[in-house]
Amino acid sequence: MSKKIAIIGAGISGLSCAYLLSEKDYNITVFAKAFSPNITSNRAAAFWFPYHIRNDKRGIEWCKKSYAFYEKLSADSSTGISMKTLIKVLRENVIEEKPVWMDFIPGGACNIIPKDQLQPGIAKAYNILVPLIETQIFLPYLQNLLEEKSVLFIEKTINHFNELPLFDIIINCTGLGSRNLCNDETVVPVRGQVGLIETKTEMPIYLDNEMPLYIVPRKDAMIVGGTYEDNIFEEATEPTTIERLLNNAYNVFPELKQQKIIGSWAGLRPYRATVRVEREAGTNIIHNYGHGGSGFTLAFGCAEEVVYLAEII
Ligand SMILES: Cc1cc2nc3c(=O)[nH]c(=O)nc-3n(C[C@H](O)[C@H](O)[C@H](O)COP(=O)(O)OP(=O)(O)OC[C@H]3O[C@@H](n4cnc5c(N)ncnc54)[C@H](O)[C@@H]3O)c2cc1C
Repeated sequence: MSKKIAIIGAGISGLSCAYLLSEKDYNITVFAKAFSPNITSNRAAAFWFPYHIRNDKRGIEWCKKSYAFYEKLSADSSTGISMKTLIKVLRENVIEEKPVWMDFIPGGACNIIPKDQLQPGIAKAYNILVPLIETQIFLPYLQNLLEEKSVLFIEKTINHFNELPLFDIIINCTGLGSRNLCNDETVVPVRGQVGLIETKTEMPIYLDNEMPLYIVPRKDAMIVGGTYEDNIFEEATEPTTIERLLNNAYNVFPELKQQKIIGSWAGLRPYRATVRVEREAGTNIIHNYGHGGSGFTLAFGCAEEVVYLAEII
């Protein structure tokens, strides 16, 4: 008889595990307090780029595996995934001969932009081909696909792992929820606020970590971010912050002032100094949480490791 697996959490971490496990002979149930669109994963921009993971060598393989997975899916437009140009700029006051993130980028995806094409104030810029994951399309797509593959989804808050005695394996993908579920206070929120303006999908993604400013032209809106606010638990936007973010964008691209402002949102990145992907010793519990600002960038690489851990239980 096939093993029964409970996955707790229906964000990108939980759904990516469910997807890879559904390719094997498992009986899978996903329990979640909330589903798309009411979860952090929907608040992501979400382009592939390593962030909050650059000091962890495990991240290199996880990021590259996820990149390859999304690149393959981008051939089907109904997934909401496309390959996009990302312009990553470094300002004059930042001297980085070989940026750390470079090791995470698949070979051939990154090119230096010639100096004579740089805007004033920019010391160096890169043109990088990355997956753009439109969360509003991809998360429901993945959930529907899993339902068709007989994965069961149940809305339920799990307060203790012993509420799931009938399962052979439990996979914890609760993000920030692990603060309570695992008493793990090392996972903390890093709030991100973003403004939304009418989209111009032909624009590349723009990323300036020093300002910080990122502009992500999705189909539903152009996302203008963002903030990285440690230990803020309120999932709320502040009008003055959103105005500042939009002004940052207008300073670099004055033509964006023509685009109507259509909203804003905030989300809490589940940050942990090291992402937790491991089996808890002496138990049937596998943890997969704490992906910070890189949940989509890491998801399918981490999920592959979870599948490996599940197979040896
Ligand atoms: C503004 C912003 C921009 C971002 N941009 C990017 C980006 O461009 N690229 C990128 O890679 N990442 C980005 N991120 C980060 C990314 O959103 C997160 O890393 C990712 O969504 C985390 O996914 P998760 O599935 O681990 O957690 P979540 O999406 O938070 O999902 C957790 C799930 O667990 C459930 N849950 C929690 N506790 C319990 C419980 N006790 N019982 C049952 N269910 C429970 C929740 O209901 C939910 O279903 C961004 C984040 C923000 C806020």
